[in-house]
Amino acid sequence: MTASLDPAAVIAEFIDAVAPYDPHPGTPPVALLGVRTAHGDQVFPMSDHLIRAMCRALASYRDPEDRGECVDCGGRHLDENLHCRDCGRLHGILGQVIADHARRVARSDGGNAPSESA
Ligand SMILES: [Zn+2]
Repeated sequence: MTASLDPAAVIAEFIDAVAPYDPHPGTPPVALLGVRTAHGDQVFPMSDHLIRAMCRALASYRDPEDRGECVDCGGRHLDENLHCRDCGRLHGILGQVIADHARRVARSDGGNAPSESA
């Protein structure tokens, strides 16, 4: 699959890719999609089959940056180390170990008994 960054070309590619599987080719479009770029305007007829194909593509889409949600702030900007860029929470096994350790330190703060059973 070629990675074209021309929006109209990308839409045309998608239409070409799904058109051969349209069970009812030639039926009237259910919508017209207008695309205005620096190269001009283009209008694409959208078949029911095309809309359904877009729905399936969306359902199976997973963004490469998607590493889940932060359990603390609900943000969706976890880096490759599962570190929340929004609130700083560290996720994953290491994040859990660090969070547990921080809780133990906080509980034992002021006392002299850090060796409580976790
Ligand atoms: Zn967060």
